[in-house]
Amino acid sequence: MLKGKNAVVTGSTSGIGEGVARALVAQGANVMLNGFGDAAAIEKLRSELSEKHKVTVLYNPGDLSKAEDCAALIRDAETRLGSVDILVNNAGIQFVAPIHEFPIERWNQIISINLSSAFHTIRAALPGMLSRKWGRLINTASTHGLVASANKVAYVAAKHGIVGLTKVVALETATTGITCNAICPGWVLTPLVQKQIDDRAAREKIDIKKAEHDLLAEKEPSLRFTRVEDIGGLAVFLCSDYAQNMTGATLPIDGGWTAQ
Ligand code: NAD
Repeated sequence: MLKGKNAVVTGSTSGIGEGVARALVAQGANVMLNGFGDAAAIEKLRSELSEKHKVTVLYNPGDLSKAEDCAALIRDAETRLGSVDILVNNAGIQFVAPIHEFPIERWNQIISINLSSAFHTIRAALPGMLSRKWGRLINTASTHGLVASANKVAYVAAKHGIVGLTKVVALETATTGITCNAICPGWVLTPLVQKQIDDRAAREKIDIKKAEHDLLAEKEPSLRFTRVEDIGGLAVFLCSDYAQNMTGATLPIDGGWTAQ
């Protein structure tokens, strides 16, 4: 379905971004991976995806806390893939503390990676999409783009910001063949969430299974994690022709978290 389309997925060396990259290549898209991690593991992922699906898969190591790396990532993809037709802004980090104890450098880091990077990449990718009159911008927001939780001030502010940015870009591109939407996952069992489970188990002196259950029970009525494949499937749908008139939407995939 996406044969011939070129995609950039930020933060795709792990978790949700990797799941989205896997879903896009399975539909025939070429993909530029990005994110941190062990060089050999990233190369293994890159070559596996490329060989399995007979598509071009490349890697850019840009640090998306830096504006210049965000713009360079898009330029690199345009040069080596030929265009950026699909841009998934997904790189993100978490830090948990009450606001009066929240380190200033952590606030700045989360705002730059989880929010500003999407401004910089969209700003760089949009001219090419406008010239081709087709584009899919997908931002990984979160339930925390719609509702709040205590001790996550930077993350919740950044994700609410991503939702606002998504709506503005949708309005600015409404008649152009480009759509811009935000996916709002609840709990997905990735390294980002595993750390919160491990911290909880240590803090409350409970085992990992109990910590997992308690984390879900607090927020997510389904008591189930969303799988990275589920997010990949939603991203593919947003890239499809069936989603040609969906734009500016915030799409929860959260086991009922935000229905409460
Ligand atoms: P993860 O830790 O598994 O993956 C994060 C990715 O971002 C990794 O590839 C990492 O290398 C990359 N990254 C981090 N800092 C970067 C930087 N400065 N420059 C470039 N890449 C960087 O986490 P995840 O759970 O897959 O999270 C992905 C996105 O999904 C994040 O935006 C997160 O906020 C969001 N999200 C996650 C959940 C969840 O439950 N896991 C829920 C809602 C939203």
